[in-house]
Amino acid sequence: MKMTANRAKREYTEAEIADLEARLQEAEDTLDAIRDGSVDALVTKNPQVGQQIYTLKSADYTYRVLIESMSQGALTISEEGIILYSNEQFSRMTATPLEHVIGQKIAAFVDPDDARLVAEILQQRSANVNGSERTVRLKGPHQKEVIFSARKLPSNGDNAFICLVVTDITERKRAETAKDEFIALASHQLRTPATGVKQYIGMLLEGYAGTLTESQRTFAQTAFDSNERQLAIINSILKTAQIDFGGYQLKIIKKNLADLVSESLKAFEPIVAMRNQTITCEFEPKVCALIEPMEISLVISNLIENASKYSSVGGKISIKIYKDPKHAYVAITDNGVGIHEEDQAKIFEKFTRVNNALSDTVSGSGLGLYWVKKIVELHGGEIILTSELDSGSTFIIKLRSC
Ligand code: ADP
Repeated sequence: MKMTANRAKREYTEAEIADLEARLQEAEDTLDAIRDGSVDALVTKNPQVGQQIYTLKSADYTYRVLIESMSQGALTISEEGIILYSNEQFSRMTATPLEHVIGQKIAAFVDPDDARLVAEILQQRSANVNGSERTVRLKGPHQKEVIFSARKLPSNGDNAFICLVVTDITERKRAETAKDEFIALASHQLRTPATGVKQYIGMLLEGYAGTLTESQRTFAQTAFDSNERQLAIINSILKTAQIDFGGYQLKIIKKNLADLVSESLKAFEPIVAMRNQTITCEFEPKVCALIEPMEISLVISNLIENASKYSSVGGKISIKIYKDPKHAYVAITDNGVGIHEEDQAKIFEKFTRVNNALSDTVSGSGLGLYWVKKIVELHGGEIILTSELDSGSTFIIKLRSC
C-alpha cells in the first residue's frame, strides 16, 4: 500500500518513461527469444546478492534443429545447476512448460532421494571433462527413470557450463524386468517336471521296474542324457536370470580351495573316464579364498566341464591352485580346440556360442561363461583367459585370498 502511495507521488519525465518502456521491451524481446529458441538461455540472478542477468550467445540454427528433434532431453546447465537451455523433449519428459523449465534448478525435477546423484554430476564438472553418467528418477507420478549424461562445456570466462543429455530408460527397464521375471518363472516351472523325468528314468535304468532289454536300456539312457542337457540349460537360464535380477546375495566365508576343487572333481570322474581324458592336479598347500563355496564350486565345475567338452577324446586337462600375497588362483587348462583371439571377449556375453571344431557335436546354451564371469566379479575377482586356436585354453579364476 505504502509503495503504491509513493509511486503515485513520483513524477516521471518523458525521457524516463521512454527509457523504462525501452527496457521493458528489451526484457520482453529476450524472453520471446528464449521461448522461440533464438538465444540459448537466460539466467536471472538476484540483484540483491550482487548477481546479474546474462544470456548465452545464439546457437547455430542447424544444431538447434537437430537438438530439438532429438528423442532425448538436452540441457545446458550452469555450475549451480540452473537450467539455461532446454529442448522441448525435456519439457515433455517432465510435463513442465518450457518457460517453467528454463531458469529452474535441475534438482527440482529429480526425485529427492536421487538429489545426491545430481550433486555428484555438478561437482564433477571441473574434474571430468570427458563426462559422467548417473541413473536418476524424475519427480512426478510416473517415476520416470532416466540417464543423465553430463559433459563440461569449454569454459566461458568465470562461468562453467554443463551439457546434459537426458535419456528416458523407463520403458526399457520395465521390459527388462518383465523379461527377467518371465525367465525366472518359466525356468522354475520347467525345472520341476524335468527333475521328475530324471528321477524316473534313473529308476528304470537302475532296474526298479525289472530288467531292461538292451534296446530298452539304450532308449532309456538316451532319454536320461537328453534330460541331463535340458536340466543344465534350465539351470543356466535360472542362474542368469537370478544374476540379472540384481540383489544377488553372497555368504562369503574362508574356504580352502584344494578342498573345494577336489569335491567338484568327483562329479567329473565318469565323464572324463568315458572320454578317455585325464585330469592332473597341482595344488599349492593352504591356499584359502574369501568366497561363497557353493557359487565358486559351480564356476569351477562349469570351467572343468567346458575344458572336457571342448577337448577331443584323450584330451589332457590340468588344474592348478596357487597364490600371491593378496590373491588366490585356480587355473584350468585344456589342450582342446582353443578360442580365436577375436572371439575371446565375446564368449563371456549372454547366449554367445562360438563355432569351433567341436561345436556341432557339443551342446550348450552359451550362458555358462556369462554367469561364471558375473559370479567371479561379484566376489571382487576376475576371470583371465589365454587361448590359442587348435592348441587349448586356460581359464584363471582370480579371487581374494585369506
Ligand atoms: P556353452 O558351452 O553352453 O556354449 P559357454 O558360455 O560355457 O556356453 O561358452 C561359450 C563359448 O565359449 C562356447 O560355445 C565355446 O565356443 C567357447 N568355449 C568355452 N570354453 C571353452 C574351452 N575350454 N575351449 C574352447 N572353447 C571354449
